[in-house]
Amino acid sequence: MNDYLKLQDIRKLFGSAPVLDGVDLSIGEGELVTLLGPSGCGKSTLLRCIAGLTELDSGSIRLADKELTKLPPRSRDVGMVFQSYALFPNLTVSQNVEYGMRMRGVAQAARRARSSELLAMVDLEDKRDVYPQSLSGGQQQRVALARSLAVQPKLLLLDEPLSALDAKIRKNLRAEIRDIQRRLGMTTLFVTHDQEEALILSDRICIMNQGQIVQEGSPEQLYTAPRTEFAARFMGSYNVFNRAEALALFRRIDSRSDRFAIRPESVILLADGERVQDDADGMIDVGGEVLSVSVLGNILRATVMAEGIPLTVDLLNDGRWLRVREGDHVTLLLDPAQLLHLEQEGA
Ligand code: ADP
Ligand code: MG
Repeated sequence: MNDYLKLQDIRKLFGSAPVLDGVDLSIGEGELVTLLGPSGCGKSTLLRCIAGLTELDSGSIRLADKELTKLPPRSRDVGMVFQSYALFPNLTVSQNVEYGMRMRGVAQAARRARSSELLAMVDLEDKRDVYPQSLSGGQQQRVALARSLAVQPKLLLLDEPLSALDAKIRKNLRAEIRDIQRRLGMTTLFVTHDQEEALILSDRICIMNQGQIVQEGSPEQLYTAPRTEFAARFMGSYNVFNRAEALALFRRIDSRSDRFAIRPESVILLADGERVQDDADGMIDVGGEVLSVSVLGNILRATVMAEGIPLTVDLLNDGRWLRVREGDHVTLLLDPAQLLHLEQEGA
């Protein structure tokens, strides 16, 4: 993988608080990388530094072998889309899309051809002469996307572009963004606090916490092998245990770790009277009582108290489990091979 975008040791203080605390990040040409982290961890500040809207305290930013750190925003070849669509209300859709080209002195005919092409791409050709306030949120965000692509940026920055939209529109636009990004081979840094969005969209995910990237990898790697408690809690609904809890459930532990995690879908639940399967070799069985069951669509999520520890257990909602109810006595099968031994934060 090449380093089309390369960030080195980016630091930024607001007052005395370090908001970016030594960020290193490389993105290959055409790659879509997601920054995933809780509100306030510095995601927007990092994007704003790359776009040149916020000044760094130290560190360097290179894009396509050009040092950006001291360049003004308009010279950086970076397009950005914000959560709040940020369109010009007094300009029509096509004037919004053409704005950056007009500033750069692109001739009218060329501007028009380019905006038509982009509006066709986001399926808004018939809206070119209307004003933004007559469009839905999803449509406005597609105009913002077209506008950011109009000047052919080398890098696209998307700052929670879907957060303000309804669930259904969000899913459609998510797929559309990925499709356009792939077709154009557009190098993209996408910011979100939504792990599902990150898992679905990304070639690679960087988990961010308190101004630092704490783990990066493919969606698969981050989902199945979070390194720390923070990553485990952020990536899914992992059950996290301290050492005493892990020992109570698993009986022996072959490491010095003091934090452990297991995914809810890795715990097997047997209803009262069900037999342990023949292939359950190496699995540990623990008795428990169902505290609650809730339906999450295709998944039933049960909370089961076992050895005094509440465990989240996910069951495929295929009809078979409807008889599992609050107060039932059940057996849990735990696979030691599925237990993650976590590292200390910052280790
Ligand atoms: P995120 O996008 O991950 O939610 P931000 O980058 O917006 O986080 O903010 C990170 C931290 O920096 C927050 O604590 C926020 O309050 C602070 N912050 C952001 N912008 C400024 C600013 N202009 N002045 C002072 N503090 C700021
Ligand atoms: Mg933000």
